[in-house]
Amino acid sequence: MLSLEQALEQMLAQLPSPAAENAQILPLTQAAERICAQEVISPINVPSFDNSAMDGYAVRLADLAASMTLSVAGKSFAGQPFQGEWAPQSAVRIMTGAMIPTGADAVVMQENVTLNQDGTVTFSELPKQGQNIRYIGEDVKQGDVVLKIGEKLTALSLPLLASLGIAEVAVFPRVKVAVLSTGDELVPVGKPLEKGKIYDTNRFAVTLMLQKLNCEILDFSILPDNEEQFERAFQAAQAQANLVITSGGVSVGEADFTKTVLEKIGQVNFWKIAMKPGKPFAFGKLENAWFCGLPGNPVSALVTFYQLVYPAIAKLSGYSAWRRPQLLPAFAATKLKKAVGRQDFQRGFYQINAQGQIEVSPVGFQGSHLFGSFVKSNCFIVLEAERGNVNAGETVMIEPFDALLG
Ligand code: AMP
Ligand code: MG
Repeated sequence: MLSLEQALEQMLAQLPSPAAENAQILPLTQAAERICAQEVISPINVPSFDNSAMDGYAVRLADLAASMTLSVAGKSFAGQPFQGEWAPQSAVRIMTGAMIPTGADAVVMQENVTLNQDGTVTFSELPKQGQNIRYIGEDVKQGDVVLKIGEKLTALSLPLLASLGIAEVAVFPRVKVAVLSTGDELVPVGKPLEKGKIYDTNRFAVTLMLQKLNCEILDFSILPDNEEQFERAFQAAQAQANLVITSGGVSVGEADFTKTVLEKIGQVNFWKIAMKPGKPFAFGKLENAWFCGLPGNPVSALVTFYQLVYPAIAKLSGYSAWRRPQLLPAFAATKLKKAVGRQDFQRGFYQINAQGQIEVSPVGFQGSHLFGSFVKSNCFIVLEAERGNVNAGETVMIEPFDALLG
């Protein structure tokens, strides 16, 4: 069996990044959460002119060297620069963001200035050269690369583009994902349950995560456990999607047709991973689309989605700046049951204890069919394959959930 790390490596090596020629140009207002497909270079300097960081007075050091009391030559307001001659032995009244008059060495904040009855101003001390001046290009220089290919357009990067006067941006197309659940026992949410039936949790969970990942979702509903119907549905799904995600039917039971059908009409690149939960995960390819077969148990489906499908979608969407959340060391607050053999992703709750250390406890029972306790968790406790039971106080690695599960 492959380790998760090996499976990820194989999968990411096989999956392509989107081609640059498929990029679309979008106005900034429609580009949120999309992936940048073209390097963005700043057409201007920011700030685009020297301006004041304070409300106060723009001064020349030479004037102050002669006298600490100066007359006021005029005003420079934001958007309305000082006009005309700047007479010797005078200061210019200036507001935050206003253009620095030519020849000024510094801005003295108004709190440090005495206004005299005759309209002159007296300075208490000599300012430093450049004090309270924001210089042209200090933040972004014309020609700087402000956004790279493969970065996400966010509430931080889009306003930056706006501040540079850039109105449109090239983005990769959204990944089209077909989602379907398999199982005779499944009933869609909202319908009454008959004897022996259960609600279809996985399609709903997967759809929600795909929405967060800004995918285009094609809902292929629920399939009964019937080989021909699997074949027909997989064919229809792969004709329209870049990626087909199924859940259930991927184990070794008599009604588990996912892998059989994938093998028949496409190819299985790997099946089964040495992780718990989530062993029966299938990755492969159909004629026109990639294929991820998630296990049926809802906890396993979610864990394999997070650990495998999430990076796969990042790759397919061109999100090369995507990084897996880092693991952190934590103290186990209680003992943890663990069998040697597979890498374990227990659901845990971590917090900072009174000693300022990260401490983690498992949340309830860890069965892969037990979804209820998942809600109480905020991290995975990632236990190495070769590790056995963990005693309270031992160090374990945790993987805090990112926004996909948060
Ligand atoms: P399977 O791999 O199809 O044998 O499914 C394993 C377990 O997960 C069984 O108990 C199924 O009833 C359950 N299961 C499969 N698909 C879903 C689903 N979409 N929602 C909730 N439970 C499911
Ligand atoms: Mg099934």
